[in-house]
Amino acid sequence: MPPPANSGFLPERRRLLKHLGNLGLASILPLGTFIPATARSETWQNWSGGQKASPAHILYPDSEEALSRGIRQAQGTIRAFGGGHSYSAVVPVPANGTLISLEAMNGLVSHDTSHLTATFFAGTRIAATGPVLKDIGQGLLNQPDIDLQSLGGAISTATHGNGRQLRCLSANVTALRLVLADGSIVSCSPENNRDLFEAARLGVGSIGVLSQVTLQNRAAYRLREQVTVLPTDEAVMLMQKERDQHRHIEFFAFPHGNRALVKRINLTTSPPTAPIEPSIDENALVEFAAESARKWPWINPYLQQVVGMFVADTVRIADSFAIFPSVRAVQVNEMEYSVPAEHGLECFEEIIATIRKHDVPVFFPLEFRYTKSDDCWLSPFYGRDSASISLHQYHKQDYRPYFNLIEPIFHKYKGRPHWGKLHSLKALQLRALYPRFDDFLRIRSQADPQGRFLNNHARAIFLG
Ligand SMILES: Cc1cc2nc3c(=O)[nH]c(=O)nc-3n(C[C@H](O)[C@H](O)[C@H](O)COP(=O)(O)OP(=O)(O)OC[C@H]3O[C@@H](n4cnc5c(N)ncnc54)[C@H](O)[C@@H]3O)c2cc1C
Repeated sequence: MPPPANSGFLPERRRLLKHLGNLGLASILPLGTFIPATARSETWQNWSGGQKASPAHILYPDSEEALSRGIRQAQGTIRAFGGGHSYSAVVPVPANGTLISLEAMNGLVSHDTSHLTATFFAGTRIAATGPVLKDIGQGLLNQPDIDLQSLGGAISTATHGNGRQLRCLSANVTALRLVLADGSIVSCSPENNRDLFEAARLGVGSIGVLSQVTLQNRAAYRLREQVTVLPTDEAVMLMQKERDQHRHIEFFAFPHGNRALVKRINLTTSPPTAPIEPSIDENALVEFAAESARKWPWINPYLQQVVGMFVADTVRIADSFAIFPSVRAVQVNEMEYSVPAEHGLECFEEIIATIRKHDVPVFFPLEFRYTKSDDCWLSPFYGRDSASISLHQYHKQDYRPYFNLIEPIFHKYKGRPHWGKLHSLKALQLRALYPRFDDFLRIRSQADPQGRFLNNHARAIFLG
């Protein structure tokens, strides 16, 4: 799959190979070779543009052996990156460090028809799994609301979709292969190297570099999605009433406009509906509205009230992998915390009231969804069914005043932050929130005693 714009993917290797190809030299460059980042353009940035790095080297291995060799030879801090869709500083390394892209390690490795599992290279983007899995009669159990993340990156941060009975992606991993700091290539699963498996299936890029991921899937399936716009208080009541009736139910609430877009999604065997051709370019409209609200804040509540007029109530039926993802073309920065499910709506209402009371200048909606509890050591959903609440701020506006105002509310509800999104917590606070935090740290230091995979952000969240 071609890398999307602003995806964090850097085409240096491709450019270099093209250049060498023109010189007839491409065949002498061993795959997995270091490419010195000398030009200013050879930098990395995430999707939102909020995180950047100018590493000494960017490595594009295309096999486990090349990955292992690269890790053994690398100098400075090493971090892998996938789709570059994390908002937090989980990827950047200092100028003498090494970034590793798994982009060239993608695709299906093998599958098991009787257990409905499939093994992919870790660089495979979620979007690329859908048609491949359908061909073998499988589908991912759940997906997040975009599909440009790599499997390695998504599971490393507990990426989740929504559904009271559905767990985050990391909890659906049944086996892994990874390359450790000394270059050794190891396999792990609940039966083999159990502790390493527990740490690596949600390792925030700090255990080693995942090369292959085996996922528990289900039989391929179709979904019916119903989108409705309601006043926010009605959306909250609907959520209370119907949260156990749907496989997926979530809403996006515009804080100043009292409008919420509700999505209800369920299994179906009905035939697919014709694709809906949008009458307007929704992303262009959102960009226009966000820009207008930024320039003329007084217009913001009116824009949020009329937003419902541009979102038609729709029903569509398609393969699961076509229903889950949306196109998010307007860049934002995001904070997300997961709180105990039973306090989710109360926490949401306190946040909305605070935004209104302080007249926070924000156009983008809050997202509210549920996820089932799991037992991954660093999972925000560890041992508790959860409600996740996300705040978004337009990338041209400073997100800090907004996020700093709301974050204490999440703390009050014992919220756990999304590892790939913005938050201010350090090891001391995180240890109190994650019961298996020290088990994770023990395995981390055994796997990487010299801290080669610890960038500044990882040091702050794990070592404080
Ligand atoms: C528009 C948008 C929508 C989003 N929607 C959702 C959503 O619905 N639900 C949700 O939970 N999250 C969501 N996210 C967050 C996103 O899913 C996570 O941040 C995810 O980690 C991004 O995956 P990535 O492949 O881009 O990884 P990156 O951001 O590139 O990396 C994330 C982490 O994984 C590590 N990593 C990457 N590859 C490997 C590897 N092979 N081995 C070891 N470590 C590795 C990196 O070092 C880093 O620590 C969204 C983000 C954006 C920008």
